[in-house]
Amino acid sequence: GSEPVFSPALSPQEGVEAATDLFREAFGAEPDGVWYAPGRVNVIGEHTDYNGGLALPIALPHRAHLALRRRDDRTIRLVSPQTREAIDVLDLDAIGPTGTPGEVRHWNAYVAGVAWALERDGLGPLRGFDAALYSCVPLGGGLSSSAALECATAVALDDVCTLGLAGTVDTPDDAGRARLVEACIRAENEMAGAPTGGMDQSASMRCRAGHALELDCRDGSVVHVPFDLAAADLTLLVIDTKAKHSLVDGQYGARRDACERAAEILGVPLLADIEPGSLEAALATLRASKATDAEVLVARTRHVVTEIDRTRRLVALLQDGTPLTGEKLAQVGALMDASHESLRVDYEVTCPELDVAVQAARAAGAHGARMTGGGFGGSAIALVDTAAVDAVARAVVDAYADHGFAAPAFLNAVPSAPAGRLV
Ligand code: ADP
Ligand code: MG
Repeated sequence: GSEPVFSPALSPQEGVEAATDLFREAFGAEPDGVWYAPGRVNVIGEHTDYNGGLALPIALPHRAHLALRRRDDRTIRLVSPQTREAIDVLDLDAIGPTGTPGEVRHWNAYVAGVAWALERDGLGPLRGFDAALYSCVPLGGGLSSSAALECATAVALDDVCTLGLAGTVDTPDDAGRARLVEACIRAENEMAGAPTGGMDQSASMRCRAGHALELDCRDGSVVHVPFDLAAADLTLLVIDTKAKHSLVDGQYGARRDACERAAEILGVPLLADIEPGSLEAALATLRASKATDAEVLVARTRHVVTEIDRTRRLVALLQDGTPLTGEKLAQVGALMDASHESLRVDYEVTCPELDVAVQAARAAGAHGARMTGGGFGGSAIALVDTAAVDAVARAVVDAYADHGFAAPAFLNAVPSAPAGRLV
């Protein structure tokens, strides 16, 4: 078979140089600075965010870099390596949500949308800006290239427009960042028209290096959970399946809808209100309901409640202060495996490419493996001994060739720093 291909993260210096060079070339001037924001992977806690549950993302070393210069007027000019021939020009006074005359095209929506949302949240009026994007977050791979764009824009505007919300990377202002997260979510939902929950933006803005972020999606509160993989000679290997199945958007909405209907039948605002101890009683109530798809509601509810419980238990394991080895490592791996099976059988959001990646990784010695992100394609993660990374990646490449799938790509998911300023 062919060799595994790894997508490297740019070093901070490489990111600064690439974004600055593009800015100079496009605008013939020096930027005020270069800001960045990371993509993310979720360790566990999938399809829990819109149910008010727990998620556990880490920030990737793969980042969107934005070289930006404030303007004195209300114009926004944007350029990326793919659009360097034709700079996009927007007017802060004319842009508006998707479906309105002010609708903004393609990736411009994620950048200009943040400025728009900050103004709607009462933080304006802002100035216009020129910006050059250089990102090494794989696009559309379930690793939140979209949130990386939004959050890089948010910290840049926070800085050049002196909003005073983000703090610095070393001394972040978490409450201020939570407010910036709201603007980023609004940009994604309203300007880009993607009805996603808030996990991606919280991860990019509020993670810490060497930690996972326990995010309580009910109230947005966070706990920074030590996750020092290197100390245990472990690697969190990301497998980008490169698969994207066309049903994604409709299916995402259908899952949200099923959860809302189940919660209504159970008389709770959110499925996170069902404790594991009362799950069986809740499932009996759903079965006895008049819903024509009662068994589907049972399965979806079982996933959500057990997934929140798995997340809570994985966090407890990471927080006990002992090294991530032996029986504890086996338990963490088993929770990841169980998460995947629940997403495959009860939530029905995996796909052949995700299932094959997970099976091949486990068979080649991964301690645990699961899909991550929304599903139907995107990426999987495998927790592997660092010495075994190549063997596991090879096994996945071979399994993909056997199944006739296009070759996957791999990333090393080192828990990294949140959005901030580079120079
Ligand atoms: P994900 O966030 O999982 O990568 P999304 O579908 O949410 O996938 O976001 C992908 C979209 O984000 C792209 O279609 C594009 O509009 C925008 N985007 C992200 N990164 C870039 C980039 N480097 N250049 C241009 N557009 C980008
Ligand atoms: Mg996204």
